[in-house]
Amino acid sequence: PLVIGIESSCDETGVGIVSGHTLLANEVASSVEEHVRFGGVVPEVASRAHLQALVPTIRRACRTADVDLSEVDAVAVTAGPGLAGALVVGMAGAKALAAALGKPLYGLNHLAGHVAVDLLDHGPLPTPCVALLVSGGHTSLLRVGDVATDITQLGATIDDAAGEAYDKVARVLGLPYPGGPVIDRAAAGGDPRAIRFPRGLTVPKDLVRHRFDFSFSGLKTAVARWVETARRDGVEVPLADVAASFQEAVCDVLTAKAVDACRSAGADHLLIGGGVAANSRLRSLLAERAAEAGITLRIPRPALCTDNGAMIAALGAEVVRAGGRPSSPDLGVDPGLPVSRVLV
Ligand code: ATP
Ligand code: MG
Ligand code: FE
Repeated sequence: PLVIGIESSCDETGVGIVSGHTLLANEVASSVEEHVRFGGVVPEVASRAHLQALVPTIRRACRTADVDLSEVDAVAVTAGPGLAGALVVGMAGAKALAAALGKPLYGLNHLAGHVAVDLLDHGPLPTPCVALLVSGGHTSLLRVGDVATDITQLGATIDDAAGEAYDKVARVLGLPYPGGPVIDRAAAGGDPRAIRFPRGLTVPKDLVRHRFDFSFSGLKTAVARWVETARRDGVEVPLADVAASFQEAVCDVLTAKAVDACRSAGADHLLIGGGVAANSRLRSLLAERAAEAGITLRIPRPALCTDNGAMIAALGAEVVRAGGRPSSPDLGVDPGLPVSRVLV
């Protein structure tokens, strides 16, 4: 099916068009620059940006795909999870589009979209597979039986998301937002073993309850304390070493738990998604540990790892294939939508 997907859960207005597993267009307008001076996404600012960007982005996607809206078979949209005010804008646009075209509307789960998008780059997903989603807003380990119908959460962060930890540590170090790429670069010249920062939820007593959960707020606090102490003692903060040591703590836990989750779920394929999937250390450590464990990695190209519309279009095509029932025209958004609900 020819599906248009609309994504507006955070700070990217994304519109994608797919024909089955073939990507025809993926246009993204990001408001990230408008959030820089606040050091994080401001929901009101994001909503307003979506409102301005949505129609032009739909037009651009149609031009790129060389598709007329009348040819579209279905309209897919992110129903949650995400920022309520941001989701509402995409939802209103998608409903209007579906009604005007007389085509079915599918309200979909953003996290499932991060998984489905890999179909566009690497074809059908082996089942079951495990997905590690790491971004500014989420950090989860999922077991995927069928991306359209069967996703269960194995674990998630109990406090900060991995990308959020990067952004907060960058702020502590006086580096700009978003912190992920900046810390990644700063770490390149540093020693990852210079400082032993804590690995959240990996001591035996925590593993009993939180085998596949993550915690990054203790790590962030540990970095902040270390930097404070150094500054108080008049020692120059070794930026590269702190960045590399922090990054090692994040990536060590993410990769160890992801590989463990694959073993536990009986999966020999591990899929990565979210903005933090761009991280160089995460990629190298994963490659190493996955190879040791006989696990094949699936990492979509960077533009498909961050929030985009193609992921929602790809998931829409899978839901249509699976015979999913179109959503009600009075469908609402759900900021806390659980990942087990792929179609709303
Ligand atoms: P959502 O959580 O809904 O997916 P988001 O906008 O927070 O939305 P993305 O756009 O997928 O997430 O990714 C942005 C996050 O990824 C930021 O926290 C950013 O710091 C982080 N990030 C980007 N590049 C890197 C990198 N090379 N290393 C580590 N983190 C990175
Ligand atoms: Mg973003
Ligand atoms: Fe996302």
